[in-house]
Amino acid sequence: MARIPEQEIERLKNEVSVERLVEAAGVELKRGGKDMLGRCPLHKDDTASLVVTPAKNLWHCFGCGAAGGPIDWVMKTRGVSFRHAVELLREGLPASSSAAALAAGAAPIKRTTVRAPVRGTVRDLSAPVAFDADDAQLLGQVADYYAATCKQSPEALAYLESRGIAGAAAGEAIEVFKLGYANRTLGLRLPEKSRKAGAEIRARLERLGVYRDSGHEHLNGSLVIPLFDAAGRVVNL
Ligand code: ZN
Repeated sequence: MARIPEQEIERLKNEVSVERLVEAAGVELKRGGKDMLGRCPLHKDDTASLVVTPAKNLWHCFGCGAAGGPIDWVMKTRGVSFRHAVELLREGLPASSSAAALAAGAAPIKRTTVRAPVRGTVRDLSAPVAFDADDAQLLGQVADYYAATCKQSPEALAYLESRGIAGAAAGEAIEVFKLGYANRTLGLRLPEKSRKAGAEIRARLERLGVYRDSGHEHLNGSLVIPLFDAAGRVVNL
């Protein structure tokens, strides 16, 4: 097997938000100063022992001692190897089967506390797109998701600031013009390709240019500017 380039590993460590990954695993995070605090899914955690530091893109559990960046999070919570974790992140981390069931509208699966990393216990967030939406609605929903991501991503806000759009003006630009940021987290919210709903929605998003035929988010790492028609519908990104 080909070696994963160091550069690619660094890129994942920098570009994949630990905060979003932790939330995608069903952990509710609350702000505590510069950190985000939540209950660690890796051990029986009655207090919020898990600390996520968005500025450094790192996490650390004071209960079980587990710690690291995005790759370590995937390895530990999914019980997979380093290489497998890197591949999942490169793919945009397809939803686990329970998450796919959730996203497809099945009854919610009761979360149980796990002591050891067990595959399939990672719950992802609900899909940001409605599967029955028409093309313009679908693009609009993707634009909304990218705008929400932009608002929450320090790196995207820093980029806007470097282009002279800072503070309230940045908030307004995101709100009004739906400036967005694609950081390959959209795939976290979609059912996996092996599922019918996942294959269908990904095929539609590919046709609309959101995904490449390789399955990667086309605009990954980019500031996304939606184009609207006269009726205010998103027609392109
Ligand atoms: Zn822990």
